[in-house]
Amino acid sequence: MGLNESVEMHVIVVGGVAGGASAAARLRRLMEHATITVFERGPYVSFANCGLPYFVGNVIKRRSALELMTPDLFKRRFNIDVKVNHEVLSINPADRELNVRDLTNNQKFTVKYDKLILSPGAEPFIPSIKGLELVPYFKLRDIPDMEKIINYINENQPKHATVVGGGYIGIELAENLHALGKAVSIVEMMPKILPIFDLEMAQILHQELALNEVRLFVNEKVVEIIPSADGRFLLLTEKGQSIETELIIMSVGIRPESKLAQDAGLQVSMKNYIQVNEQMQTSDSNIYAVGDAVEVQNMILNEPWGLALAGPANREGRVVADVIAGLSSKFEGVIGTSVIKVFGLTASMVGMNEKVLKEKNIPYEKVYLHPNNHAGYYPDAVAMSIKLLFETPTGRILGAQIIGGPGTEKRIDVLATVMKFNGTVFDLERLELAYAPPYGSAKDPINMAGFLATNILQNLTKVWHWHDLATIKESDGFLLDVRTKGEFKVSHIDGAINIPDTELRENLAKIPADKPIYVYCQVGFRGYLSSRVLLQSGFSEVYNLSGGFKTYDYATKSLEQLNSSLSNLPLKFKKQASSRPAEDVIQTSEQEIIDASGLACPGPINALLEALQKSGEQYIRIISTDPAFISTIRTYVEVNPGVQLLSLKTANNKIIAEIHKNADFIDVTSLGEVELENTEMEQRVIRPVGLPVVSEISPEDLRKEITSTTPPAIIIDVREPGEWKRGHLKQASLITLGTLPDKLQDLAQYMQKEIVTVCASGKRSYLAAQLLEKAGFEYIRSLRGGMIAWQRAGYDSAK
Ligand code: FAD
Repeated sequence: MGLNESVEMHVIVVGGVAGGASAAARLRRLMEHATITVFERGPYVSFANCGLPYFVGNVIKRRSALELMTPDLFKRRFNIDVKVNHEVLSINPADRELNVRDLTNNQKFTVKYDKLILSPGAEPFIPSIKGLELVPYFKLRDIPDMEKIINYINENQPKHATVVGGGYIGIELAENLHALGKAVSIVEMMPKILPIFDLEMAQILHQELALNEVRLFVNEKVVEIIPSADGRFLLLTEKGQSIETELIIMSVGIRPESKLAQDAGLQVSMKNYIQVNEQMQTSDSNIYAVGDAVEVQNMILNEPWGLALAGPANREGRVVADVIAGLSSKFEGVIGTSVIKVFGLTASMVGMNEKVLKEKNIPYEKVYLHPNNHAGYYPDAVAMSIKLLFETPTGRILGAQIIGGPGTEKRIDVLATVMKFNGTVFDLERLELAYAPPYGSAKDPINMAGFLATNILQNLTKVWHWHDLATIKESDGFLLDVRTKGEFKVSHIDGAINIPDTELRENLAKIPADKPIYVYCQVGFRGYLSSRVLLQSGFSEVYNLSGGFKTYDYATKSLEQLNSSLSNLPLKFKKQASSRPAEDVIQTSEQEIIDASGLACPGPINALLEALQKSGEQYIRIISTDPAFISTIRTYVEVNPGVQLLSLKTANNKIIAEIHKNADFIDVTSLGEVELENTEMEQRVIRPVGLPVVSEISPEDLRKEITSTTPPAIIIDVREPGEWKRGHLKQASLITLGTLPDKLQDLAQYMQKEIVTVCASGKRSYLAAQLLEKAGFEYIRSLRGGMIAWQRAGYDSAK
């Protein structure tokens, strides 16, 4: 096909931002003699809408940086007439005519076209919420929206902002409002933020928000907003939460702005996306459409798909210009490659998530891995978490989600490139990628993902996943933790037996030959090695936990657990750590600094344990780059009353924990060996010395007592609120282990009465009983085996 270089035609573009501006500029480069007019409803053309949240947060400082082009420059450089403040009201396809209103003077006029390109974008969806119409609220689509937010902030100086909706724009705004010093809450109706990520991956981001003190509410739908006299608003949720705020941002999603096309009789989909062919041509051969308003081919599912991203909009604009100019370009479809900054993390994804694959009944398998972004021995290596989804048995890559620090988006781009060419996990094994220690590893994370996936497809290893635990327990599988004893003691999956991988060959006799074996380690590597040893030693059914304990831990933590242990840190410190005020301690005490950057878990916790060997009181600042360290350190301080977490924060991709160790500290996790012979699923209670030995009560006896005439005076459940919600004793009261020392006064009435403490497995409740006994309470017993044993005995629990 030749270029229509000399053809004189009038091409009109509706919408002058991403898709529309690209189409117009490309068209001029191809067709010097065409008349090109762009109608844009707003006051700006070709502005950087993706940069708007960062201008709100004062990260982008120059306003003019957002205005990529002006009508004047379009005219001078491209000879294109850009009419801003002009709204196209209707299209008459039969006469090839548009009805336009000049918004500056309200004058209407008609104009003829030969070819028409629609790029009207998508508009923020505003849900109907009782009271919303009575309060000022904001959305963010364009520069005027952005200016309204900034003006409101300047005039009212709100201290607290709430973003309703945890999608891309909502999260970016939350981060930028936080950058302005605002306390920020996000309310999300779904169980997680960013719908395109699967839950266990989004949990990493939930943790990041919590670390940055952004209060996240999930599974919460705002149903009413009540204004109060002092400029504040109360957001009420369906489940009864009330959130007080001073600035409301609505960011619950977008809708294709396709009414103009629909009214003109163009074909649209069920979800109102404009339907186009590979040339971006609508059902009218003279009208093309691009961008957020159209439905294009999803290359993974081979079905139409709506995708609101700037890259596809720009490329579609280019294709339309080519087609109008006579080139044979096609827009082949999308795979959905995206990236977002969430405070210190980069979250990126491509293709389909697991939820979609399930809905579409596509046969798939997945692997998780947590490699460093570059060689661990080179300074500042940061772990990333990868989830790779691939088709079985072909190995075609279906999707990936990667969250981490520097180098994250580079990996997703490599995967996107392979996927665009219909590549498989076998291709990932073979990829030759750039390597030097500051940038990568000789086996790049992408090669590693390929190795893991092909091992599965070639039947070299079988994997189990974090969500399989309940089924494993039901089917009496043998859970084998092959991490070191130290790692196991800090935290492990309830019911697991610990045989470190280095001791496995000598201890094979301790593993039942007649049960399926479910191995796990911290990230999956030692588990894989161990599973190979077992498989070649006569065990026929061996599975390795993909992504290891790290993935399991992220996936199973409740949001309450992520939020709670952070929000009351200073309070805990003031009460427990020292008789000196917290500020005084933090500012004047000499801190030992341990830099564990680049070490993957358990490296950082091992470094800390080594430092804690010293006698006497200590203040330690430990720096890690492995996000899993956050939950490890929290668990460690939770089970060790002798250490307190003074602060936990992230800065420059590093996790910084400040720890205070009491002079009389005893590491409870280094006491009480878990015996290998104990093949029962029950977890052994660790009994720290130095604290009193307390009695335990069996589930059977507790049940009898509860129904007797002399039940315990109080049953204290010391777990976290999220665990409590999953099932607790009807008669119990929730007082988490972390808050127990603060509640001793309130419990004084039970000094001489019978108290029972409860947790999940009997470990925390034992510690709680010890604390109570040390504080002078006389009759305390801890429920042996905790709620696990209670529920296993078939006794009732409330939710
Ligand atoms: P738009 O760029 O929205 O342009 C449509 C234009 O059409 C609008 O200016 C509108 O005024 C005009 N219009 C509509 N109807 C009429 C009419 N009847 N007459 C005249 N004019 C009309 N994408 C990414 O890939 N990465 C990001 O980081 C990213 N960040 C974003 C941040 C924000 C705050 C927003 C709002 C979007 C972001 N996006 C991002 C999405 C990206 O901007 C869109 O996918 C892209 O702009 C879509 O291009 P479009 O041409 O279809 O629509």
